Amino acid sequence: MPTASSQESEPQKSLKRITWQYENCLSCVWFRPNDPINADLLERGQCVHSKLKAYNLIVSGRDWCNLFTEIPQKSIDALQEKAMKEE
Ligand code: SF4
Repeated sequence: MPTASSQESEPQKSLKRITWQYENCLSCVWFRPNDPINADLLERGQCVHSKLKAYNLIVSGRDWCNLFTEIPQKSIDALQEKAMKEE
């Protein structure tokens, strides 16, 4: 008999694996997610790149542009720690 997880559709399984990923706004150093603690590909937030900030862009974690710069893990940790202190 199939288990509960094997009955899930592929998109449902994929959603469970969503995390900080490579080459999208979610993993870009210029992305400021509204909720840094629970941010995933569907998260929205501001892009604060100096060339784009003036446009007040709201991007999602799965967006991307050619100004992408990978965020170091220590910066993710710092964003999350700051958000936890603000809660
Ligand atoms: S729009 Fe470009 S620079 Fe801004 S967060 Fe996304 S990838 Fe980074």
